[in-house]
Amino acid sequence: MEIPFLDLNAPYLELKTELDEAIQRVLASGWYLLGNETHAFEEEYAHFCGTKYCIAVSNGLDALHLTLRAWDIGPGDEVIVPAHTFIATWLAVTYAGAQPVPVEVNENTYNLDPSRIESAITRQTKAIVPVHLYGQPADMDAINTVADKYGLKVLEDAAQAHGALYKGKPTGCLGDAAAFSFYPGKNLGALGDGGAITTNDENLAKRIRMLANYGAERKYNHLEKGFNCRLDEIQAAILRVKLRYLMDWNNRRKAIANLYLDKLTNLDIVLPVIPEWATPVWHLFVIRCQFRNQLQQYLAKNKIGTLIHYPVPPFKQKAYPQFAAIADHFPIASKIANEILSLPMGPHLASDQVRVVVDKINDAITLFKKDFSS
Ligand SMILES: *Cc1c(COP(=O)(O)O)cnc(C)c1O
Repeated sequence: MEIPFLDLNAPYLELKTELDEAIQRVLASGWYLLGNETHAFEEEYAHFCGTKYCIAVSNGLDALHLTLRAWDIGPGDEVIVPAHTFIATWLAVTYAGAQPVPVEVNENTYNLDPSRIESAITRQTKAIVPVHLYGQPADMDAINTVADKYGLKVLEDAAQAHGALYKGKPTGCLGDAAAFSFYPGKNLGALGDGGAITTNDENLAKRIRMLANYGAERKYNHLEKGFNCRLDEIQAAILRVKLRYLMDWNNRRKAIANLYLDKLTNLDIVLPVIPEWATPVWHLFVIRCQFRNQLQQYLAKNKIGTLIHYPVPPFKQKAYPQFAAIADHFPIASKIANEILSLPMGPHLASDQVRVVVDKINDAITLFKKDFSS
């Protein structure tokens, strides 16, 4: 049995009738941008997140970037980001013209360590961008406390955490604003690119909406030099269908995660740690193992797909050469990158497939240990 890391065709097949109908509806309407589907999706997603406003945009990176811009964050400013995250969190800061300032993550939760933020704050610091990595909310109360003390904005990078709860409250309403991605592989995925910002701040919502549409307040009335970062009506219609299944599909992920947590008994595997205040949505199920590379090869030989999120931290990327000199300031992020492995996870992974993965992993480690001792 071949077990893919993620099956992207199954979600379409399960919802084929509804998705085809939604797409046809848009095709027949003759209206493809900034129309009823986008407005309706924005209302529905704001409601889902418990915020007053939602602005649908082109992708998650643009959602992050436009929000920083709308706060007038730019050259000379610094923005605190996790040392361990997908590079888009950092790129958004760079696009705005500001400097990303990495802060170490917690070794157990892989999320921004609030106790290390304060020492990274300078007079130039304007915002903190915590990431709810792998679908697990960051410790937002602690982060907001530091932000309040220094008058900083908090932008949640919620690209991996649609529907996750922090102390019972959904991601998207836990900071000053939140950025979501609807990349096809995300928990709420379009059939192409998509993104959104949620916030309770009316002025921020207005400015982002304007920036995303050429800086135009009304058609051909450009108050500032904006961008083209719009979501299209077809993707909005698709997202409206898929939003109705998000909770159900997140629950399927949870059942898979519980199987893994229960059955992966080998002591050489570090399992995800869930703080008592977190209700994660298991965008990814990430284990840690000293023999990570051998384990990944062994699973590949057994036709089990795995990925590494992410093998090289942003501060070690060629895109950010200025951090090479201080790469040893982030030993936890470096260690995590060397040991993590994302196991198959998704709403269409069957429990017998999960059992195969579990059995292979529990066997595999014993094999490597024999290799190492002989
Ligand atoms: C996917 C992702 C993004 C970027 O979203 P895109 O829609 O691909 O631009 C940003 N941050 C994190 C943590 C992500 O996982």
